[in-house]
Amino acid sequence: MFEITFLGTAASVPSTSRGLSSLLVEHGRQRFMIDCGEGTQRQLMASGLGFRRLDTILLTHGHLDHLLGLGGLAGTLNLWRATERLAIHAGPAPLRLARRLLEDVVWPDASPRLALEWRELAPGPFVTGPELTVSAFPVRHAAPDCFGFLFEETPRRHLIAERLDALGVPAGGERGRLAHGEAVTLPDGRRVEPEEVMGSERIGRRVAVVGDTESTDDLLEHVRGVDLLVIEATFLDQDRDKAKARSHLTVGQATALARDAGVGELWLNHQSPRYPAGAVEREARAGFGNVHVAADFDRVTVG
Ligand SMILES: [Zn+2]
Ligand SMILES: [Zn+2]
Repeated sequence: MFEITFLGTAASVPSTSRGLSSLLVEHGRQRFMIDCGEGTQRQLMASGLGFRRLDTILLTHGHLDHLLGLGGLAGTLNLWRATERLAIHAGPAPLRLARRLLEDVVWPDASPRLALEWRELAPGPFVTGPELTVSAFPVRHAAPDCFGFLFEETPRRHLIAERLDALGVPAGGERGRLAHGEAVTLPDGRRVEPEEVMGSERIGRRVAVVGDTESTDDLLEHVRGVDLLVIEATFLDQDRDKAKARSHLTVGQATALARDAGVGELWLNHQSPRYPAGAVEREARAGFGNVHVAADFDRVTVG
């Protein structure tokens, strides 16, 4: 199960209601922050999610509206000893920029207690665990070395609640062990095998997050069939010339990608204050049924 929390949904400059780009993807106890625009640490406080276990930051690209908050956030993580290490994953150019920000500006004279890990992204998987794989894929935008991210759960057979109830398996530890493929003995002495309570289908959720981008044809293969796609939609279709000139997408391009890729649920991010309330949503709904325009602190569960 994934939980995604939008911490900042503005394009380029913040507004009174939208912070600059950042969102959090949580899977079990693992947390991934994607982008860290100015003010992200305050958004994180306001969200109630807290700073614990925040040790991995992924950068989509090096534009300042996506990374300027890294200095302040890393400073606070270090001050509060909220984590012992902080891994920053980005393409070569944005990684150099983030490194200059932390090493030359935030800590020019002394090293932080926090162990900083600089991880250069290339296309392909870069987090591979028993439960989760995270991969990077290239994205075209007016900046070097841009990446999008695909989060994939390892497909597993799931417990069927009705069978558990019928057999009287209590909520708690027994169900957890069955989910991991272990047989359990109930308090009355009966033994329950995982085969008795598991469905045959293997299910693994998939979530894709794309930051700023100027094209969608190159993304199709990477986001095909995902349960949830987060992508920018900075302009309405009426402004497609501006979108092209500034290396961004229109709502129509984003919804067409979701249709063509057979995406389950679409969340539009990186919103411009230039449009009246509801305009982006109307255009989005005309293009794709299951679409949401992200607002700060929106939280969505995929599972
Ligand atoms: Zn941006
Ligand atoms: Zn950008």
